[in-house]
Amino acid sequence: MRLSRFYIPTLKEDPSEAEVVSHKLLMRAGMIRKLTSGIYNYLPLGLKSVNKVANIVREEMNRAGALEVLMPMVQPGDLWQETGRWDYYGKELLRVKDRHGRDYCLGPTHEEVITDLVRGEVKSYKQLPLNLYQIQTKFRDEIRPRFGLMRGREFIMKDAYSFDKDEAGAEESYANMFEAYKKAFSRIGLNFRPVQADSGAIGGDFSHEFHVLAETGEDTIAVCKDEKCGYAANLEKAKVAAPAGESMLKDECPAIEEVATPGKHTVEEVCEFLGVSQDKLVKTLLFTVDGEPVAALVRGDRELNDVKLRNLIGGNEIEMANEGQVKEWTGAPVGFAGPVALKVERIFADHELLAATDWIAGANKGDTHIKHLSLGRDCKIEQFADLRVITEADPCPECGAAIEFTKGIEVGHVFKLGSKYSKSMEATFLDENGKTQPMVMGCYGIGVSRIVASAIEQNNDENGAIFPPTIAPFEICVISLGGKDAAVNEKAEELYNELMEMGIDAAYDDRKERPGVKFADADLIGYPMQLVIGGKGLKNGIVEAKNRKTGEKIELPLEGFTEAFKTWRAEIWQSWGLKA
Ligand code: ATP
Ligand code: MG
Repeated sequence: MRLSRFYIPTLKEDPSEAEVVSHKLLMRAGMIRKLTSGIYNYLPLGLKSVNKVANIVREEMNRAGALEVLMPMVQPGDLWQETGRWDYYGKELLRVKDRHGRDYCLGPTHEEVITDLVRGEVKSYKQLPLNLYQIQTKFRDEIRPRFGLMRGREFIMKDAYSFDKDEAGAEESYANMFEAYKKAFSRIGLNFRPVQADSGAIGGDFSHEFHVLAETGEDTIAVCKDEKCGYAANLEKAKVAAPAGESMLKDECPAIEEVATPGKHTVEEVCEFLGVSQDKLVKTLLFTVDGEPVAALVRGDRELNDVKLRNLIGGNEIEMANEGQVKEWTGAPVGFAGPVALKVERIFADHELLAATDWIAGANKGDTHIKHLSLGRDCKIEQFADLRVITEADPCPECGAAIEFTKGIEVGHVFKLGSKYSKSMEATFLDENGKTQPMVMGCYGIGVSRIVASAIEQNNDENGAIFPPTIAPFEICVISLGGKDAAVNEKAEELYNELMEMGIDAAYDDRKERPGVKFADADLIGYPMQLVIGGKGLKNGIVEAKNRKTGEKIELPLEGFTEAFKTWRAEIWQSWGLKA
């Protein structure tokens, strides 16, 4: 492509609303433009990158045996009523009415539509397994759209759905997609990691998120420092091992004693007032799980993981108790809840609390706490279990080595759905024995537009973006320093044509701009390779080749250019862990 005929409206300044580097650079490099909050135009250069990501994803899906379809973005509300998600999905679901007053929504995901499609067509086990995918625009009315393409309201997703006749088949489909994801992200050249995620009611290790590792990631993941172990999980999922050593539940401690803690509500205030460290206190948290009162106990310095609590109890919706409920259940104002004589039947405790006794806790009485609480003697705990959020000081739950927290950007998610949708929507088939069975499903998403942003988050410097060669808008840019020197321009054009003939997606910066402008734009846009030809080079029979990632410049001979270029290109790809 000749850049004199291309449209790249670069910006000199960072746009004021852009908080993260990918957002800044995508705007400055003229790749995207905001239409309104969380909704962007993809300009020619940006769309090229998006399409390259989509094509790699498409190839890997096809290779894995998934079949491409395209479903509508507008979905009838009736389908969402069938699964109960019309009420459950909340405000991220953008609802609209047509002229007849019928309910529709803009698809944030397509489980309902795909299940409806398949239930009408697939009737026999002979038609299974089936895996259908699409690459399409999604709409989620995110509460905080931000960071440009990282968290938009409208974005491009690849979503695949598998249908199997039994659990074993579904697990195979899951493993197949897991491998396809690894291949796709590796081929793009991203530094990524699959991490275990919460699979809710399904249980087991059947939900993984794929994270691109980058400082600016919104998610924190716990990773085992021992590479051989390889344990990695998001914070919702990461297990905390039970404490080593004997349970202290039955250990003697003095009888309970009330202490006045006037106006001290928080763990910090109480511990400071009593002159004890926060790990001496039991924190009592009150919830309703599907409407039923539940208490959860964790050590004062710990954070409860409500996903773990919900999974333990097996409920759907977990909500913090409101002020009225707290007063009713504890008989005290908020801030003094404790497990003794609490009007809540079901009390669950984090298993770390087995490791000590003689606790401090709320007294269920205004301005009062208790000392010398023994959880075995003084209250009835339904179950001790892993209930808290992992910390960086905890050991790896699998191998005991140290854990490290890193930041990640979620670019993909594979999830076993089971028969949740096929049951509620009656997507059934006749098995080998003529018996009606619900299909066993899986769903698999990739954030196509988010990948472009995350590639920049992972690779950039003060001059601009640095794209992996696989998804760069152009793999290489030929820059002529010829000005009015026709011989130089002719040579630049010749090199550009040669690259095109090699099948390389090349740009030729033939604009009537100063060399400085061309260099700055090439660095800003982040083409992984630059070829610079000037009068002196032409005289000496060389062209300068720059590796954008390392900044390294070498000279390639004009005589025998093709071979020398191929070798250099292979080295650049290799530095990305890729094969040209
Ligand atoms: P997040 O936790 O980041 O909101 P999610 O769990 O809602 O993601 P999924 O429903 O699993 O995401 O969607 C599949 C993929 O779509 C995600 O892995 C992510 O890459 C992408 N994605 C989700 N929400 C957005 C968004 N608002 N903007 C861009 N990409 C998104
Ligand atoms: Mg989300």
